[in-house]
Amino acid sequence: MNAVINESLAAIPGQAWNNRFATLGSDFYTELQPTPLPAPCWISRNEALACELGLQEQWFASQESLEVFTGNRILEGSQPLASVYSGHQFGQWAGQLGDGRAILLGELSTALGPQEIQLKGAGATPYSRMGDGRAVLRSSIREYLCSEAMHGLGIPTTRALCVTGSNARVRREEMETAAVVTRTAPSFIRFGHFEHFSYSDQHQQLKTLADYVIDNFYPRCRDTTQAYAALLQAVSERTAHMVAAWQAVGFCHGVMNTDNMSILGLTIDYGPFQFLDAFDPGHICNHSDTQGRYAYNKQPNIAYWNLFCLGQALLPLMDSQEQALAALESYKTVFPDALQARMGAKLGLPDTRTDDKSLIENTFKLLAADKVDYTIFWHRLGAFGTAQGREAVRDLFMDRSGFDAWALSYSERIAQVDKGLRADLMLKNNPRYVLRNHLGEQAIQAAKLNDFSVVNTLLTLLQAPFDEHPGHESLAGFPPDWAASIEISCSS
Ligand code: AMP
Ligand code: MG
Repeated sequence: MNAVINESLAAIPGQAWNNRFATLGSDFYTELQPTPLPAPCWISRNEALACELGLQEQWFASQESLEVFTGNRILEGSQPLASVYSGHQFGQWAGQLGDGRAILLGELSTALGPQEIQLKGAGATPYSRMGDGRAVLRSSIREYLCSEAMHGLGIPTTRALCVTGSNARVRREEMETAAVVTRTAPSFIRFGHFEHFSYSDQHQQLKTLADYVIDNFYPRCRDTTQAYAALLQAVSERTAHMVAAWQAVGFCHGVMNTDNMSILGLTIDYGPFQFLDAFDPGHICNHSDTQGRYAYNKQPNIAYWNLFCLGQALLPLMDSQEQALAALESYKTVFPDALQARMGAKLGLPDTRTDDKSLIENTFKLLAADKVDYTIFWHRLGAFGTAQGREAVRDLFMDRSGFDAWALSYSERIAQVDKGLRADLMLKNNPRYVLRNHLGEQAIQAAKLNDFSVVNTLLTLLQAPFDEHPGHESLAGFPPDWAASIEISCSS
């Protein structure tokens, strides 16, 4: 690679930096510059997010911005750094990890409030271990589109501002090219940051980190006498809501290691994720996950397991183990309640009752028995009230009598709900468009041929996934046969 960083500072017009994470001190990170990439080009810019952040349109489209978001030019006021964390990977303590290819530029004051800006794939750091510090175009497009798809679905997530590409070659299973995704979030702190300081007996730093997170993101924890237990409870609750949202929309994360769990309950680190096509509860989306640890139906328990690790990491700050266990208990009620509310909304029920639990369970069973397309089932169900609409749902099932029995109990239940209210709820909770693997693949294949139109079209659709997008109906259709042969692994 022969690109040289441009030493003259760039500036985002009208934006002020306030790098709070950097105030934690050098135990928490290493300051360093991104490594430049040759011949940067735009793959896609997320104009909608730029507008939300209050970035000037003209600057965002400029050559200077392209260089900044590739890591080739440094912004005045930014304080680039890579943070250190540890984690449990696939159930095993993995020791020190850290930002091996992500570089935090700093924290901007934006129209959305303070937002950290991070470049993923911006070069090696002291935490790269054996890695090259790069991200390939394929995985960068997937992360970019999925972040915005999740946001469009109303699911807490880190966001993605843009993707830039380069002709620099990167070795994975085969040679690929490098890309950089610019991610934004109020904070990129993970469970693994806490594990790092706890397991290395750096308890003063552990306390500093916990206080930082509480003061900046969970200030209400100070209202109690046990602020750290309150933090664990608050994180458990946010995580419960996030995973309930994943389950309801049929999202598999794929690598729920504790270093990929956000302390803010945001979906983070998009790798081998997948939105379910056919409903298969045991579906494993990550080709490297040979044991199925992170299968779709295991996600809720894995989230609890990860919270338990966080609880263990926080123990040195608590009076007793009982305090931590009590804080974790909340997950066991918040998750099922949140899932029931989400599934109820998908069924068109404004509020769910105890006996709706069996209707929801039976719906899952029915879908699993015939491996029905998850997104299409829910979307079609919105028109269940008409004979034609109902027939279109019925057509998805081989087991017609099974469907008819279920439809009878569903009809009885929705007879108690106002039609307009039900229709409205279902429209807002059953997306037409999700980022199925084959759609991501189409965007990637086109981008490899320098056609970025598919990425941009998908971005627009996925940012408004509940809307009709005339002319793009085929992108809301069944996956083609070849979709089943797409293999997504940890390699990115
Ligand atoms: P992930 O599975 O992507 O969440 O990554 C796990 C750990 O490996 C993190 O510490 C990453 O920063 C690091 N990592 C993954 N890919 C690379 C790479 N190409 N270069 C350097 N570090 C990497
Ligand atoms: Mg990660």
